[in-house]
Amino acid sequence: MAASASSAAAAAAAPRSSPENDSSAAKTARRNRVLSSKLYFDVPPTKVPVIYSSSYDIAFFGIEKLHPFDSSKWGRICQFLIADGVLVKNLIVEPMEASEEDLLVVHSKSYLDSLKSSLTVSIIMEVPPVSLLPNFLVQQKALSPFRKQVGGTIMAGKLAKERGWAINVGGGFHHCSADKGGGFCAYADISLCIHFAFIRLNISRVMIIDLDAHQGNGHERDFSNDGRVFILDMFNAGIYPHDYEARRYIDYKVEIVSGTTTNTYLKKLDKALEAAGNMFDAELLVYNAGTDILDGDPLGMLKISPDGVIQRDEKVFRFAKEKKIPIVMVTSGGYMKSSARVIADSIVNLSKKRLIDLGGSAL
Ligand SMILES: [Zn+2]
Repeated sequence: MAASASSAAAAAAAPRSSPENDSSAAKTARRNRVLSSKLYFDVPPTKVPVIYSSSYDIAFFGIEKLHPFDSSKWGRICQFLIADGVLVKNLIVEPMEASEEDLLVVHSKSYLDSLKSSLTVSIIMEVPPVSLLPNFLVQQKALSPFRKQVGGTIMAGKLAKERGWAINVGGGFHHCSADKGGGFCAYADISLCIHFAFIRLNISRVMIIDLDAHQGNGHERDFSNDGRVFILDMFNAGIYPHDYEARRYIDYKVEIVSGTTTNTYLKKLDKALEAAGNMFDAELLVYNAGTDILDGDPLGMLKISPDGVIQRDEKVFRFAKEKKIPIVMVTSGGYMKSSARVIADSIVNLSKKRLIDLGGSAL
């Protein structure tokens, strides 16, 4: 509510001009920002399109332990892959941190300014004690890691176009839209990735496959009236965010109930992928691969086995490969201690099945 009130105030304060002028000026500003961004950079072919930085991980004087949350999930995924011998550390791509100019490609200035309040950030992060910290610390310890992950998701679009696939080991902040954060999501990395792809990659049709346990209301709001983006969202309808307006913007919606088990889940996914593939011809696929569908996850309330998650990811990558659509994967929600191992196992499986190529070491 606060975000919509402040954006309404910003709109009222803006100089009067016709809607066409506004939208064409906004389009030009967006285009110029994307074209002058440093987030896309050339990566040598010897590197693999797995994107990660040690600055993704959040260490917050122990405060992060108050959230039901493994805040070093991202680093642990890479550690498992390196220890398993399937990924070589110095072949990982380190992204740049998204700057304010980069974030303004999607976000309003008023929203970004609202993050200068530690109270606002504490509400988005769902960690009340964060409100007591000076904002410079909140920026440094929480928002900067998130901005680095945003840079990773944006870069993943470029690498996917070049290599056929890319995995950002972080990102997937699907509850954040241009004007509003929430549910641990402060920046709309998926929307940003897609707008960069539109302008820099000559792509005009993108499919989002959102298989996090929660509804992806952020990107749904951002692309509500944009025919260039097709959204398949399969989510537990009985949990956060209960965003009924955003649900109207889902092109292929699969609402599941708490307690859904692996076989039922995977059957629904098969049907959804087949239908979505027939409905929309995509040039880029953004896969939001949250692992909060895992049995035991306190937020997702579903009962999918670790092997079910591995099969799910394989189905989506196979779908992309068969249709020859470049795929970006982001890891999104799922912060049980077991999540990192399951994600690493899934990436190993994708490599074994030749759906991705991690450099041909042990496999
Ligand atoms: Zn989630």
